[in-house]
Amino acid sequence: MNPLLIDLRQLPEEGKSLEGELPASWLELRPDDSVKASGPVIYSLRIERDGSDLLVSGRLDASFDLECGRCLGLLKRRALLPHYHAQLPVGEADTIDLTEAVREDILLTLPNFPRCEDGNIEPRSCPAFGRFDSPDPSEGSQPPPGPPSGVWDRLDQLKKP
Ligand SMILES: [Zn+2]
Repeated sequence: MNPLLIDLRQLPEEGKSLEGELPASWLELRPDDSVKASGPVIYSLRIERDGSDLLVSGRLDASFDLECGRCLGLLKRRALLPHYHAQLPVGEADTIDLTEAVREDILLTLPNFPRCEDGNIEPRSCPAFGRFDSPDPSEGSQPPPGPPSGVWDRLDQLKKP
């Protein structure tokens, strides 16, 4: 049963509260996604009808494991929306599913290109900070470094009769 499926015919005039937890799998992240949900999604919402719209307000709380694009390290980020608000048009529908809207609004709080500094649970500095962020334009035009000296000596020795 989908707790975020609202039956508008049964929605009281004064609105109603929705509280609970959704499993991490509810976020439907792909297994190969670099974003992983690390815990349940906790919601505490108030649902109210306003004419042809449904007003949703309250609090959302979810936790994620992200991958730093710089050092590929794991960073933990909590997506906390303490003042969540959404307005969804319902028109003539009898039911409305908040799932997509809520899921999207949670995921939108995550950085597109996470870096270690985006972690907000266990803050840490990126071990690769500054290494890739400002590429030196002259880089790449230089010849690749040769093999460490010593290799040639050994090759020379192999060639000797
Ligand atoms: Zn990093």
